[in-house]
Amino acid sequence: MSSIGKGALGGAGFGVAAAMAGVWFQMLPVSIMRIPPSVSGVSFEVVFEVVLATALGVVLTPLLRLPLGRLLHLGAIAAAWTTIQIAYAIDSPIGSISARYGWLVALVLYGTGFLLARRARWAGAIAGLVLLGAGVAAPHIYLGLTTPERVVLAELPPAAPGAPDVVLIVLDTVRAESMSAYGYARETTPQFDALSKEGALYLDATSPSTWSLASHASLFTGLFPSAHGAHMEHRFLDEGPTTIAETLASAGYETLTFTANAFISDTIGLTRGFRVADEAWRERRGGANRFGFATRVLDGFGFGPQDKGGGLVASHFEEWAAETSADGPPVFVFLNLIEAHFPYHQLPEEYLHLFSELPRDELRQVSMDVMGSQFGGTALPQEVAMGPSIDMYDAGIVYTDYLLGRIVDALERRGKLENTVLIVMADHGELVGEHGTYGHGSSVYEPVIRVPLLVRYPPRVPAGARVETPISTVGVYATIVDLLDLESPGPLHVSSLLPAVSGGPPGGPVMAERHMAPVMFAREDVDPMADTRARLRTYRAGDWKLVESSNGKMMLFDLSTDPGEVRDLAETRPEQVARLRHELDTWQAALGLPPIEGERGYGEVPEIDAGAEERLRALGYVE
Ligand SMILES: [Zn+2]
Repeated sequence: MSSIGKGALGGAGFGVAAAMAGVWFQMLPVSIMRIPPSVSGVSFEVVFEVVLATALGVVLTPLLRLPLGRLLHLGAIAAAWTTIQIAYAIDSPIGSISARYGWLVALVLYGTGFLLARRARWAGAIAGLVLLGAGVAAPHIYLGLTTPERVVLAELPPAAPGAPDVVLIVLDTVRAESMSAYGYARETTPQFDALSKEGALYLDATSPSTWSLASHASLFTGLFPSAHGAHMEHRFLDEGPTTIAETLASAGYETLTFTANAFISDTIGLTRGFRVADEAWRERRGGANRFGFATRVLDGFGFGPQDKGGGLVASHFEEWAAETSADGPPVFVFLNLIEAHFPYHQLPEEYLHLFSELPRDELRQVSMDVMGSQFGGTALPQEVAMGPSIDMYDAGIVYTDYLLGRIVDALERRGKLENTVLIVMADHGELVGEHGTYGHGSSVYEPVIRVPLLVRYPPRVPAGARVETPISTVGVYATIVDLLDLESPGPLHVSSLLPAVSGGPPGGPVMAERHMAPVMFAREDVDPMADTRARLRTYRAGDWKLVESSNGKMMLFDLSTDPGEVRDLAETRPEQVARLRHELDTWQAALGLPPIEGERGYGEVPEIDAGAEERLRALGYVE
C-alpha cells in the first residue's frame, strides 16, 4: 500500500473509533432526555467524523516515515482532532467532556481494533463497523422498548354538525414583552398583531412552567406540572389525564400535530391522542443533532443550519391544508414553531441581519456562547453578549411570526378560517441577558413565564378584546372545551378563560412550577429565583408575585413598582406574604396539588376538592 493509503487508513480507523465513542456517549443524554436523535443526523455526524479523521491521516502521512512513525502518526491525528473539537465545543462542563476526552476513548477503541486485526486481518475493522452501527441503532432500540404505543382512536365518532376546526399554535420561547402586540418598540410580530385585533388578546398570561416539556404537558392536560407529573424530575406524560387531543378525537375531530420541537414526540408521551404526528424535527439534522460536532464545524464555516425546522413545519402544514377538504370531519391541529429558541443565530440570512450588522461569524460566537452558559459555561460579559443576543432573538421572533402568517394564509385558502377556533400562544419565554442570564428552564422571572395568548373565533369572541386580568395558559384546554360546547373530560385546574374577556374571574390560579433538574444539569446558581437544586412555585395575585422554594425560602415582588423583580419584599411585607400564602394554600387544597416539597406518584390525577369552591368564591376566582 502507498504511504498516502496507509495514512488514510490510519485516519479512517481513528475516525471510526471516535465516531463509535460519540454514538455510544449519546446514550447518556438520550436516556435522560428521551429525545431520539434523528438517524439522518447521526449518520451525517458519523460520515463527517470519518472523513475528517481520514483527511487528517492523509495530511499527517509524512510522520509515518519517522522512527515509531505509526505511533507518532496516530498521536498527531488525536492531537489535531482534539484541537478542532475544543475549538468548536459548546462552552459548558458537559459540552466539553467529550471534546476534551473523546480522543482517549477513541485511542482505546482503536488500540483494541488494532490488536484484533493482528489475530485476523479484517476482525478489527468489522468489529468497529458493527459496534458503530449498533451505536447508531441503540437509542432507537432503547426508546422503542421503553415507549408505550401511542394511544389513538381507531375510528372517529361523528362530530357535531358545523363543528368548528381548532388550530392551536405555540410560538416556542417567544416572550410577550418582545412582541409588538405587547408594546415592544420593534415591530416583531405584524402577523400576530393583526390576528390579535380580530380576537381577544390576553395582556397578562402566565405559562405554568419554564420549559417546553412541562409546559406542553400542562397545555395538553389542563393541569399544573406537579399533577400531570411530566417535568424535569420525570420526563414523560404518563397515562391518567385525558389529553385535549383525546377529548377532541372523542368528539369526532381528526387530530394532527406538526412540530419541530422534539419534545412533542411519542417518546415523551406528548403525542397521545394525535392520530397524525408530523415530526419535522426528524428531518435534515433536526432535534438534538443541531448541536452535533459536524454541525458546529460546518456552522463555523458558514454552512450551518439556517432554520430550526420551522420552514418544514409550515410547508408540511401548507401541503396538508391544500390536500385536505374543509368538508370532511373537523380538525384539531397543533403546531409548534421553535425558531426563537437558542441557538439564536440559526436563522435565514435575511432575518439574522434584520437588527444587527455584525457578521454572521461574530453573531454565531455570541449565540453559541450564551447557549453554553445555560449548561454551566461562563458566558461572555453581558455588555458584549446582550445587545447581539437581543438582536438575534428578536429576529427569531420576526421569522416565527412570518411562519405564523404562512399558516394563517394556508387556513384562509382552505376556506374555513372564520369557523376556526384559532389560539396562538407561547409555551414559555426567555431571558436575553436580564438578571445576567440567557435562556429559559431554570429561572422563574417574568420574562420566562409571561407569554402571549390570543383567542380568535369570530362567532363567540369579540374582536379587539383586551384582557388585563392575570390568567394562566393552563385554561386554554377548558377554553377550547367551552367554545365547542363539549363536556369536560375530568378535572381541569383552570376553567375557561372566556369569562375574563368580559371582566369575569380568571378561572383558576396563576401559578408556575419548576421542578428540580437532574444532577448533571443542576447548576450552582446562587440566585434563589433560578436554583435548580430546589423546586420553585410562583403565585400571582394582582401585581403581587410570591415565589416559594422547596428549600423553605419565600420571595415577594410587587410587579407594579418593580417589574424587573430586583427588590425581594418578603422580609419587609410579611402580611402580604401571609395573605398570598393563604390563597395559595387554598388553591393547593382545592386542586389536590402536593406542597412544593411533597412527593406524588406520577400520573395520578388528584380529585378537585368540591368543598373548596366556597373559599375560592370568597377569593373571587369562581363565579
Ligand atoms: Zn419551549
